[in-house]
Amino acid sequence: MIRHLRRGYRVLALESSCDDSCVALLEKLPGNPPKVVDQYKKTLSLAKIGGIIPTAAHDHHHTHMGQLVQDFCQKHNLNARAPPDLICCTRGPGMTGLLSLSIQLAKGLSIAWEKPLIGVHHMLGHLLVAKLPAKEKSPEALSPEYPFLSLLCSGGHSMLVLLKSLTDHKIIVDTNDIAAGDSIDKCAREIGLYGNMLGKELEQYIDNIPQENKISNIDLQMSLPFKGPRDEKYPKTILFSFASFLSRVQLFKKKHPDISEIKRQKLAYTIQETIFSHIIDRVNVALVKHGNNLKKHQGADSQFIGVKNFICSGGVAANKRLRERLFLELHSKENLGTEFQFHFPDLDLCTDNAVMIGVAGIEIFETLKIRTDLSMTAIRKWPLDGLLEVDGWVGVSEEEYENVINSGAS
Ligand code: ZN
Repeated sequence: MIRHLRRGYRVLALESSCDDSCVALLEKLPGNPPKVVDQYKKTLSLAKIGGIIPTAAHDHHHTHMGQLVQDFCQKHNLNARAPPDLICCTRGPGMTGLLSLSIQLAKGLSIAWEKPLIGVHHMLGHLLVAKLPAKEKSPEALSPEYPFLSLLCSGGHSMLVLLKSLTDHKIIVDTNDIAAGDSIDKCAREIGLYGNMLGKELEQYIDNIPQENKISNIDLQMSLPFKGPRDEKYPKTILFSFASFLSRVQLFKKKHPDISEIKRQKLAYTIQETIFSHIIDRVNVALVKHGNNLKKHQGADSQFIGVKNFICSGGVAANKRLRERLFLELHSKENLGTEFQFHFPDLDLCTDNAVMIGVAGIEIFETLKIRTDLSMTAIRKWPLDGLLEVDGWVGVSEEEYENVINSGAS
């Protein structure tokens, strides 16, 4: 009998690792990239609190997650008669109390609907979400293929990762203190900005200042960490460092307690530009150190040979100025081939969301043919390069696999 594929199989994904309660539905046809059907997100308002407070996030998820998932399932007619075919949830890393809520909810749905369950690594979700075709690109735009480089910049993480396959990840640049997004948020708060997403507030504030004030001629003394005569050109370990930017801004404020609006504008511009310069500088050092331009750079180790794609994901990656600068300042470097492609996820997929959990869960299911069993617990610390080195993974039988993959066929 010839089977005609009517639609792809359906994947329900849940995420509650930080301060967003999220649910998403994706559809997947074998051989095609996943399609996002819909997503809901309810974010804890942090404007008054000024940072994540675990108890507040815990209460937020417990209050809203159940209702959010029920409303979402009703809207998409997901029920015992028409369940989704695969269920994914974030398993870690993060605060176990927050993660557990989605894990327990996902387990309940998996038992009730008799569908396989996948516990997903949160950062893998951020790294793989760029594989979805971006809305602003043509539908034929190719999704990145392994090996690729991914710059993950968010409020919780700052790293450049080399992904050779779904399970082979190498962290090339890590932070030795706080994350880029954390530093940006704290600096924005120091200069008097207010809101739920301070990085976005800072970007909008800078967008609206007159061009003549977009200059860095104030006495901020903000130098780039690890860049100076004493630092090695190609260090053994390449690191980001974002804590010093905040202390510089605090020092400046002490020296200038009453700054004019013009100075505040210049201060905001300088902060954002300098933090982005540091990110680009470290990525560039990594590109030279691990590139294949052996003749020009003695000590280059060719680790990046074959890399043709560069992905930027995470909340900070939603910043248009960072995207523009990465593209302009890295693209022209001689160590990147002309085929080097940049991929930036859609803006609404840069911050935490359940779509990315579904995307990563689908790839785990299809590529590795594994699922997570009901013994799954939340994982507080889960190294990205140890994806499979946790308990709870079990193989999927051929029959179970076919049932999911062909469930949209008629
Ligand atoms: Zn995240």
